Amino acid sequence: MDEDRLPGTASAGLSIRECRDMIKKSLQLPKVKFLRENLEKSGCKVEDNFIKAINCHNQMAGGYAPRRGIFVCSNEMTCQDDVNQVILHELIHAYDECRAANLDWADCAHHACAEIRANHLSGDCHFKRELLRGNLKIGGQESECIKRRVMKSVTSNPYCSATAAREGMEAVWNVCYNDTQPFDRAL
Ligand SMILES: [Zn+2]
Repeated sequence: MDEDRLPGTASAGLSIRECRDMIKKSLQLPKVKFLRENLEKSGCKVEDNFIKAINCHNQMAGGYAPRRGIFVCSNEMTCQDDVNQVILHELIHAYDECRAANLDWADCAHHACAEIRANHLSGDCHFKRELLRGNLKIGGQESECIKRRVMKSVTSNPYCSATAAREGMEAVWNVCYNDTQPFDRAL
């Protein structure tokens, strides 16, 4: 669930108030609206106050606390795009949790699946964002980026060793990468 540090965060980042304003703007994005509509259809209405701006200490960009809400780490954010990305990523986690009653975050394959989908469908690994991170390799970059970020998140799960994280990710890769619900395809 934890996201890796975004590029260009050497500065102090945003204040809570700036971050809150950006969260409001993110809520207007068509992709964010679409995810919220689908969460609601699945029985998990996301109120505006479901997404909070907080200051974080361990270089996280944001996170999702099952059933409690999404937090965006204002001090790690530098721009609207950072905030949009975190919200999309975490809303996909909320959607996965909502649609699958038995999602078990302590299960490394379940966690890996959620991270594959969140990193794929949020656009966290779009070419442009990878360029900003300085990962310039062309060809296969998207899946490499997703795998790198999945490993980073899943190995931070206290229940998952590096081996368990890798095995979990490999076991579910095809199914979860190709599962683009609620989108028709990865945008
Ligand atoms: Zn995540």
